[in-house]
Amino acid sequence: MLVRFWGTRGSLPTPLNAVAVREKIRRALRESIGHDISTPERLETFIDEKLAFSVSGTFGGNSSCVEIESGGTQHILCDMGSGGREFGNAIMAQKYPNKEKVINIFQSHPHWDHIMGFPFFVPAYVPGFKVVIHGCHANLEEAYRRQHSEPGFPVPWAALGADIQFVTLEPGKEYVVDGVTVRALKQHHSGDSYGYRFEKNGKSIVYTTDSEHKFELIDDDYPFIHFLRGADLVIFDAMYSLADSISIKEDWGHSSNIIGVELAQRAGAKHLCMYHHEPNYDDAMIERIMQETIRYEELSEEGDSLIVSSAYDGREIVV
Ligand SMILES: [Zn+2]
Ligand SMILES: [Zn+2]
Repeated sequence: MLVRFWGTRGSLPTPLNAVAVREKIRRALRESIGHDISTPERLETFIDEKLAFSVSGTFGGNSSCVEIESGGTQHILCDMGSGGREFGNAIMAQKYPNKEKVINIFQSHPHWDHIMGFPFFVPAYVPGFKVVIHGCHANLEEAYRRQHSEPGFPVPWAALGADIQFVTLEPGKEYVVDGVTVRALKQHHSGDSYGYRFEKNGKSIVYTTDSEHKFELIDDDYPFIHFLRGADLVIFDAMYSLADSISIKEDWGHSSNIIGVELAQRAGAKHLCMYHHEPNYDDAMIERIMQETIRYEELSEEGDSLIVSSAYDGREIVV
């Protein structure tokens, strides 16, 4: 399977401004002094090998949307944050010539940052497309429809040309969608949220965002240990630093990098990818947290080592 991140920012889209772009250019040029960048090839090598990702790239501005390419004939997404707009544009540009026009969206919860891409999701407007929105919340359809009403947005729901269906899932039950086995787990978050575990051909991906974990509840029977068990990739809400998550931001419904490592290690997961980045953190801060988390994992590991990384818009991970 392949995971493609279309939106990785938590709570609110967070674009780079001109000052931030200029600072990246300044840092890149300063760091190029003394390096041979006299040909296009050497320049590419310099960018890849010498620049930190916080200089050469960005952790991304769109809110939650992750695509799972399972090798099936349909599309699978987790959440429809603002990143969903770009996914829709890619579909309309026919970047997926061999797929059916069927898009399955697995919805963690109806908070605005996870549905805000839908009014700008072009396939929803086009007859011939089918959009199936799967989720465990009874009010999911209401949340989606409410976005398409005055005074917030001028295009009514009835103007959407696609065949749009809502499917209510039961947590803990196994479903098969386009050859992928899917199971949901209830999470601690305002109004509840749900994580999803996707499995196919012996590979497993867990999408778990907007979920708070309290250290005192984590033991061997903690449901998430089973949910994450042996997962090849865990996409994890690591919105806050540990200090924030257990002090001022306790009960805000999100988790930290350190709890992510703790759960992934106990579950024997292979790769922890931190996700739903705090909008107040700039690229340098997210990179610093990632490096600290990698070091923490190395110091605390007992069994097989866990890969730790951070998601960014446009990133692809093969599972
Ligand atoms: Zn969120
Ligand atoms: Zn939320």
